[in-house]
Amino acid sequence: MNKLITIKQKKIIIGNWKMNPDSLSDAKRIFTKIVAGSSKFKEVETIICPPSVFLGLVGKPKNIKLGGQDGFYESTGPHTGLVSISMLKSLGAEYLIVGHSEIRQAGETDDLINKKIKTGLKLGLKIVLCIGEEIHDENGEYLKILQSQLLQDLALVPKKYFNQIIVAHEPVWAIGSLSKNADNPESFAHNRLFIKKVLADLVGKKVGLTVPVLYGGSVGVKNSKDFLTTGEADGLLIGRVSLIPDDFIKIITLANN
Ligand code: PEP
Repeated sequence: MNKLITIKQKKIIIGNWKMNPDSLSDAKRIFTKIVAGSSKFKEVETIICPPSVFLGLVGKPKNIKLGGQDGFYESTGPHTGLVSISMLKSLGAEYLIVGHSEIRQAGETDDLINKKIKTGLKLGLKIVLCIGEEIHDENGEYLKILQSQLLQDLALVPKKYFNQIIVAHEPVWAIGSLSKNADNPESFAHNRLFIKKVLADLVGKKVGLTVPVLYGGSVGVKNSKDFLTTGEADGLLIGRVSLIPDDFIKIITLANN
């Protein structure tokens, strides 16, 4: 008789520091505390995405991976103020957040996101593709937005790269409220399945269903466990609370168990 083998995937916990903190010394202090407090947890993949200027300076411990928050798809060129994805890689980034709503709201198009994703994948980075609706409606119309973002952002991405892709569902209305407006885990569980189905239709079940789908949007110590258990989230993308070492470590501890 065939035995059913289930492989336990590590939960993925990502800290998106956004444009914080405002000094390198604070960044180092926060990072060092997180490294020390999470070193014993082996069942979690922890990633910190500091501002790009701090990337190469916070340290590069074994138990924490680094990621960029955004990057331009050309490696060099006349693009004043921009930082390329290859520059982020040279500073130690192994992950790259792409399509965050704060950048989409500033005018980033799905076409641009698609270019960034393709460049990041070719460079060997893992891509954390953020998708999310601005308004939640009870009729499920928002699912069409998620589908459209996925299909446009991943258009013509070869199947062989899908093992480098992570999707984060971050409802825009849920971001930044310190638990007040977070989605509920049951609703996320449904959205996660929907996202996996879109991916399965795109590249086949074998590959599409294995893409991790994270939840992001006002996750804190109180609601993180429910998203990981009831919500069946493959991990969490955390903004504000990732700058509070004690709380972030508590979430890593929960994810490890
Ligand atoms: C984010 O913007 O990626 C995010 C999840 O923020 P917060 O946790 O602060 O809602």
